[in-house]
Amino acid sequence: MPLRKVFDYLPVAETVLADLQPGMRVRVPFQRRQLVGIFLELASQSELDPSRLKPIEAVLDASPILPPEILKLCLWAADYYHHPVGEVLAAALPGLLRQGRPPEIKSKKNAAPPPLPEPGSAPLRLNDKQEELVQAVTAALNRFSVFTVDGVTGSGKTEVYLQAIQTVLEQQKQTLVLIPEINLTPQTLERFRHRFGVPIAAIHSGLTEKARLQAWLNARSATAFILIGTRSAVFTPLPRLGLIIVDEEHDSSFKQHDGFRYNARDLAIWRARDAQVPILLGSATPSLETLHRSWEGPYRYFSLPERAGGATLPVFRVVDLRRQYLEEGLSAELLQGLTTHLKAGNQVLLFLNRRGFSPVLICHACAWMATCKHCDARMTYHLRPTRLHCHHCEAQKAVPVRCEACGEKELQTLGLGTERLEQALQKHFPDYPLTRIDRDTTRRKGKIEEMLGDIQSGASRILLGTQMVAKGHHFPNVTLVGIIDSDYGLFSSDFRAAERLGQLLLQVAGRAGRATKPGEVWIQTHHPHHPFIQLLQQGNYQQVAKALLQEREQAALPPYSSLALFHAEAHRLPEVENFLNQVKELAQSLGNSVSIRGPISALMARRAGRYRMQLLLQAEHKKTLHAFLRQLLQKVEGLSNKLRIHWAVDVDPMELE
Ligand code: ADP
Ligand code: ZN
Ligand code: ZN
Repeated sequence: MPLRKVFDYLPVAETVLADLQPGMRVRVPFQRRQLVGIFLELASQSELDPSRLKPIEAVLDASPILPPEILKLCLWAADYYHHPVGEVLAAALPGLLRQGRPPEIKSKKNAAPPPLPEPGSAPLRLNDKQEELVQAVTAALNRFSVFTVDGVTGSGKTEVYLQAIQTVLEQQKQTLVLIPEINLTPQTLERFRHRFGVPIAAIHSGLTEKARLQAWLNARSATAFILIGTRSAVFTPLPRLGLIIVDEEHDSSFKQHDGFRYNARDLAIWRARDAQVPILLGSATPSLETLHRSWEGPYRYFSLPERAGGATLPVFRVVDLRRQYLEEGLSAELLQGLTTHLKAGNQVLLFLNRRGFSPVLICHACAWMATCKHCDARMTYHLRPTRLHCHHCEAQKAVPVRCEACGEKELQTLGLGTERLEQALQKHFPDYPLTRIDRDTTRRKGKIEEMLGDIQSGASRILLGTQMVAKGHHFPNVTLVGIIDSDYGLFSSDFRAAERLGQLLLQVAGRAGRATKPGEVWIQTHHPHHPFIQLLQQGNYQQVAKALLQEREQAALPPYSSLALFHAEAHRLPEVENFLNQVKELAQSLGNSVSIRGPISALMARRAGRYRMQLLLQAEHKKTLHAFLRQLLQKVEGLSNKLRIHWAVDVDPMELE
């Protein structure tokens, strides 16, 4: 239940109390329904009158479905994120177990387990930096420490993971590998399967419930020695856990953005400490938090500044867009560069983080713009199929023939999305096959693999896409990367915007080039002298991070303070405002150890028909913030009007929404 409390029940008559163990599932009456619950602890008394207590109807498990270490992790997470414990426990269980099904998969009779892969690829000869890191990790097995692996794209991080895992396997221990929520699972799995002849389980969003349960059970029974998974895999029981790896640790998909807003990377660190095993945080662009804890804190920092196998890092160049004629966002200079690289037989990659045809549909007669009925946002114009689409609430509608304000037939598209860029590129380079990768072109299952195949084989010469092309993949034949619009993000009011822009740009940049074909990265901007663009141009993420950390320190923002957002939304604006004002009053009555800003409108003031506002809570120390939140939430739970309001607490928010 989405309530910050636990519920008391009487033991089922025939149960011997001693047999009940924390982490077992029970079936209980709840209001007029029957629900699956998790038994947490025995109490000798209840706040409720004993006559009102209902008995448990059945105990569903003979032994705890959640082993003690996972139960402990969940309880800690519920406390840290100030989230209802019931929802946390539910998030930790595969769907079928949440529904009360038995922890087993009925397999077809005599079905043989899938054959183990032949271990194929031999370990590579490590370079000195890799060797040093692998040595350090394997020397630290069986105790807790955090290793930061700050390695540029292609520097051989994955090879380091594989060799560290090899040692863990020799000790008959399990490894948990967390990867971002992207279409990378198949490739990552392939690479691991190819190396080791051991069962590997995978948990990600593309699985059926049955497959998910199977993977979970294989991990829990230690049948699988490696578990590769996205965010929620951090809750999987691994009785022989020996090592945790978080790849692309900076990726925001490790943070759940609604409901139980946990950060899987941070929970993984807690889990490593609890299990006394090492954890590797790898990235070409580590988060500022991680770098801070590496440079000034306890993490052990290793950098792999060079590409393995001799490839060089790309060269950066800033293209000044001011006063230039732009052909659908493309400067003459960039078009010339694209021509040169294509004629030389190479591939080019264009990055534009905006899908659809154009972000604005405007009336040329009266300046009316197509906005979403439900959000404070414009609707994006899509060409194929033709429609208006709100990217915030997914509302769609037909494109009006006439202006909805003045009735004139003067509607025009304004601004550039990937669909429009694709059209422009096709017109300009009709002889070169093109692949566009964004959420719209990759919806169909298997599509992204097909596209990546075209790119690897060279069948496709021009690639363009959104942040989907920035992640994970390596395109060795790409020699020119063009960043179409880097201005977006320079002036955002979200304090993480610059960090994200820097990570995104340098991640895209890292897609290009190899030994024989060094890459170039061209950044188009209207602000060529902006200090941040100047910094990015040097292509050195560590310098970028140092500058950003200085700014954070001056502004007392994380990692130099702790933040939580108290977010609220409702259909009527005054309700939200009143509610948050009440919360603020309660907060102020708790003293001034925590500074409170707001209520202020969320960056998007209305979404999906709800008005959204927030309070920003900031404290110098985590402990202060958490003690404060605990007290505050107890009081907020008592506010009578809270039920009409959707509210949530976001601890360590990734964005200010
Ligand atoms: P990352 O995970 O940092 O992007 P990878 O581990 O995928 O890097 O390595 C990038 C490329 O370099 C791969 O093709 C890999 O096989 C190769 N590679 C990695 N380590 C070495 C090494 N020590 N010697 C030669 N090639 C290597
Ligand atoms: Zn009009
Ligand atoms: Zn909308």
